Amino acid sequence: MSRIAGILICVFLMTGAAIGQEDYIAKRKLMVEAQIKARGIVSPATLRAMSKVPRHLFVPEGMKIYAYTDGPLPIGNGQTISQPYIVAFMTQALRLKQDHKVLEIGTGSGYQAAVLAKIVDSVYTIEIVKDLALRAQKKLYNMGYDNIEVRWGDGYNGWPGEAPFDAIMVTAGAESIPQPLIDQLKVGGRMIIPVGPHNSIRQLVLVHKKKNKVVKKELMAVRFVPFTREKNRKP
Ligand code: SAH
Repeated sequence: MSRIAGILICVFLMTGAAIGQEDYIAKRKLMVEAQIKARGIVSPATLRAMSKVPRHLFVPEGMKIYAYTDGPLPIGNGQTISQPYIVAFMTQALRLKQDHKVLEIGTGSGYQAAVLAKIVDSVYTIEIVKDLALRAQKKLYNMGYDNIEVRWGDGYNGWPGEAPFDAIMVTAGAESIPQPLIDQLKVGGRMIIPVGPHNSIRQLVLVHKKKNKVVKKELMAVRFVPFTREKNRKP
């Protein structure tokens, strides 16, 4: 009798898990349709990546049910994972190609890096909070992303050993555009970065590095956690 009960419990748990997974897939599909396509994102590569990466695996356990809602979510250490639409908007703005080498500043949960890694051959990402950097590194490795390198450190100076990059994405709000990042961009490359005074609504700026000039264009107003510097960071 207890064996039958055991089997029944097992079957119940297995179907429960299966329904859970399908539910996430359905929620993700809806997220792409209602939040991303509906707001005008058209890049096929961006839409494909957003519909593939399991966002619920990048948020804390208790936040999983909100993973596909239309907003940012806390990821621990006082940081947040951006709203899905903003992730898609910033990704599309870089006009990525498969053979691109991309640098991200602000790994956070690793979600944005995973989205980029579905589109391009190699992603380098830097996170200033050690705990977040180590967690994201472990998570991405366990999930099988073998084209992402995570480094713990201050992203202000970029990643000179791997420069130049075809594209750079900064996912923390900066007061100005770090010159080392402009220097590490290839000619023809693009960078997207939220810029504005501390703790304010900032402008998402698209930087296009041309042969003899750097063209900057403000795309939209956004709110981001601040870009911090190693010397200012609390322990
Ligand atoms: N892209 C992330 C969300 C980023 S939140 C995701 O998909 O989850 C912004 C992150 O930038 C935070 O984790 C913050 O710690 C980090 N950050 C802030 N200043 C930084 C700096 N100078 N160098 C590297 N990371 C920084």
